[in-house]
Amino acid sequence: MKERQVVVVGAGPAGLTAAYELSKHGVPTTIVEKDPSTVGGISRTVEYKGFRYDIGGHRFFTKSDEVNRIWHEILTDEFITRPRLSRIYYNNKFFHYPLRPFEALFKVGPIETAHCVASYLWAKLFPSKEEVNFEQWVSNRFGFKLYSMFFKTYTEKVWGMKCTELGADWAAQRIQNLSLGKAIKNALFPKKGDSTIKTLIDQFEYPRLGPGQMWERCRDLVVARGHRVAMGRRVHRIHHHDGVLTGVTIVDAEGNLERLPATDLVSSMPISEAVRLMDPRPPAHVLAAADKLRYRDFLTVSLVLDAADLFPDNWIYVHSPEVQLGRIQNFKNWSPHMVPDPSKTCLGLEYFVFEGKGLWAQSDEQLVELGGLELEKLGLASRKDVRDGSVVRMEKAYPVYDAQFQAAVDTLKAWLGGIRGIQQVGRNGQHRYNNQDHSMLTAIFAARNILGANYDIWNVNVDAEYHETMDRKQPRRVGDVTPTPVA
Ligand SMILES: Cc1cc2nc3c(=O)[nH]c(=O)nc-3n(C[C@H](O)[C@H](O)[C@H](O)COP(=O)(O)OP(=O)(O)OC[C@H]3O[C@@H](n4cnc5c(N)ncnc54)[C@H](O)[C@@H]3O)c2cc1C
Repeated sequence: MKERQVVVVGAGPAGLTAAYELSKHGVPTTIVEKDPSTVGGISRTVEYKGFRYDIGGHRFFTKSDEVNRIWHEILTDEFITRPRLSRIYYNNKFFHYPLRPFEALFKVGPIETAHCVASYLWAKLFPSKEEVNFEQWVSNRFGFKLYSMFFKTYTEKVWGMKCTELGADWAAQRIQNLSLGKAIKNALFPKKGDSTIKTLIDQFEYPRLGPGQMWERCRDLVVARGHRVAMGRRVHRIHHHDGVLTGVTIVDAEGNLERLPATDLVSSMPISEAVRLMDPRPPAHVLAAADKLRYRDFLTVSLVLDAADLFPDNWIYVHSPEVQLGRIQNFKNWSPHMVPDPSKTCLGLEYFVFEGKGLWAQSDEQLVELGGLELEKLGLASRKDVRDGSVVRMEKAYPVYDAQFQAAVDTLKAWLGGIRGIQQVGRNGQHRYNNQDHSMLTAIFAARNILGANYDIWNVNVDAEYHETMDRKQPRRVGDVTPTPVA
């Protein structure tokens, strides 16, 4: 295996897992990461004056024994199990999430309840014949009224577009197997064997110091095994000849170029960017497909408040349309070790944005000010308790599933598939709205391919949302998520 020279792009969960797996087999690997100092990608933990926060809270859960094994191998005894409470804030009221149908109907009051029931029955009797967009998909299962209360505003905040423009496949992936009928039936007659699912809903594993701790340790292990992690370097060109990868040129912040010989490239950078960096360039239709992929960007305003105990939730979904913030994380409820002083609270206010526009372009001071104002507007904290704040902007946090994304991904995948040695892994690498475990599994199978196997890594499906949807299926074993070897 020594004759293989592997370049891994990205020190997020996918890239680090690929390097970690390869390092066990002595395959020389160079990780290239554009961030100057922080590993973990979207799953990083940021430290600000001793307060630690995630880019969105990151739970560790998976159906894959393999992923679980790696997490515990890396973090050993630094995993803690945390109770989970997350609620929706709508119309000045809290609703449990996942939704509890009777609580929801009781809290909205008799008139709204009647409206919800009538609209649900209408949807059952006269469902929308077409299920092309998000609105049609959810309304058919919940009725238009419940859809507009509990799905519409938040979804539109997240994606920055109307639910009618969002593909139904996204709804199917995120809230599969859930309908109001099923939810009510399950609330009335809970089935035996629900304890596994319930446990996964009510508690989760979390690194004591946040997800960044996992990925910092993974980096340290890879480095200790003699592999290079080149921070602050971007991919400049990916070279290929006669359908074979020949090398990768990287560039640092000063513009210095370095050519890395490579038999293999495991890339977790956005697939649209990877094809644009190919040398020679791909044909026009491939570049046009790359231009069709869209992303939603994200920023976290982290506020330090002079308050010991603001609310018990790990996170709150803010459906209320009168504020721009979409979700609030309370990091000491994720792990008490995330705050250095128990008399303080660190909240992560999450805004879904487009890079360069609107809130993204505001100064950190303006955003910290806005955060305090919105918290006060919601009645969740007082502005005068805000002592400090910081902002992290995360580009391409969400790959967008619109009407054109699938055809575009298929085009890119087919063209890249014609170049031996290149494997696309991870979230933006495969343009897949995923969790860490999916990114890791794509990387594990990519590493195995380098070691001589032949898996279709586009086929990895961890079905990771099952625990939110109250899907009654028991978690499947890793055999079920193993992609079929390509003939
Ligand atoms: C708000 C939010 C909450 C989430 N919550 C959870 C959760 O609770 N549990 C969970 O498991 N998952 C969660 N996820 C998903 C999780 O963050 C991702 O699945 C995971 O980080 C993807 O890992 P990755 O390595 O594929 O990609 P990334 O994390 O995006 O890492 C890619 C890396 O590649 C680097 N890179 C990109 N381009 C280049 C380039 N040209 N050259 C060099 N380096 C480059 C980036 O800087 C980055 O470090 C959440 C995501 C978001 C946005």
